[in-house]
Amino acid sequence: MSTQTAVQPTDAEPIEAAVRPWDVFRTEVAALVRLSPAFVRVTFKGPSLAHFADNGFDQRFKLIFPASACGYDKLPTGDRWYSELRSLPEDEQCGVRTYTVRTVRPELGEVDVDMVIHEAESDEETGPALEWLQTAAVGDELLLLGPDSRWDGPHGGVDFHAPEGAELLIAGDETAAPAIAAILEDLPATARGTAFIEVPTAEDALDIEVPAHVAVVWLPRDGAAWGERLVPAVTEAARRMDFGAEDDAFVEIDDEMIWDAPETAPATGSYVWIAAETGVVKTLRFTIRKELGLPKESGAFMGYWRNGKAWD
Ligand SMILES: Cc1cc2nc3c(=O)[nH]c(=O)nc-3n(C[C@H](O)[C@H](O)[C@H](O)COP(=O)(O)OP(=O)(O)OC[C@H]3O[C@@H](n4cnc5c(N)ncnc54)[C@H](O)[C@@H]3O)c2cc1C
Repeated sequence: MSTQTAVQPTDAEPIEAAVRPWDVFRTEVAALVRLSPAFVRVTFKGPSLAHFADNGFDQRFKLIFPASACGYDKLPTGDRWYSELRSLPEDEQCGVRTYTVRTVRPELGEVDVDMVIHEAESDEETGPALEWLQTAAVGDELLLLGPDSRWDGPHGGVDFHAPEGAELLIAGDETAAPAIAAILEDLPATARGTAFIEVPTAEDALDIEVPAHVAVVWLPRDGAAWGERLVPAVTEAARRMDFGAEDDAFVEIDDEMIWDAPETAPATGSYVWIAAETGVVKTLRFTIRKELGLPKESGAFMGYWRNGKAWD
């Protein structure tokens, strides 16, 4: 009779985990700073964040919130994790929401995220992100799904692709303010254009370092509806720009979501980047693409959230 000894992996011979473009980072909250009435800067910390890629611009990623019944205990892993998550009973599902990387400090294992804290009068106006933020405390555990710097291919999730020398028109509401801030801080010193940012109140205008020829216009909403300040200001600025007018472009107007973001930069010309509440983006996209003729490859139009609807 032959005896066979199974070969077991040991700590001395770790099985190398496959590096993927995106990975789950286990973190805890290191700091919470109220930047203004509408913004809280959350600093996440953890040794694995040494591998969180610093791609700059509007790099998006996911925050995964613990399920009310069981935290992260039932969070599926593997390639089909998301559909498996969605088939769990509701109180066992972790909430997943998209945010923008504000700053990465790999040497310290830290990532900053600027999260909007808004008034919610009912459960319908509260989702897992707001719920978590309202009681978040230093030391809380949170999972991040983000780009892994050990992956040497593209990560995806950056949608700002302006050609060098373009005249820029950048616009958004408070949910896009972190992305706009990161974009402006990453632009070359020669960049030129205007950024419009609609925020709840004048106190929410944040300090952003911008190139000398880029103007930032903060538009306090002061109780007006979303887009009421942004739409006229951006429309007027767009009318003054030269888009090399495309003739009567087809623009889908029935989309429930808007994610119209070309993956590469146009060769030359003006460049438009807009992210805000979906209905507001829809209005601006129609005017700028259909009426003013901005070529499709010269603009990114993204619905970052939808008024009255929870979004994953
Ligand atoms: C690419 C991308 C990047 C983003 N970056 C950021 C970021 O850096 N910082 C940030 O704060 N947000 C950011 N957002 C927006 C954020 O994902 C949404 O606001 C998200 O809906 C918040 O989740 P929630 O769980 O609070 O609400 P949900 O469960 O999605 O929605 C519940 C209710 O809250 C309402 N609601 C959601 N957001 C708001 C809001 N801001 N004001 C008023 N009502 C709201 C919804 O209409 C709904 O009625 C980003 C979105 C995308 C797509």
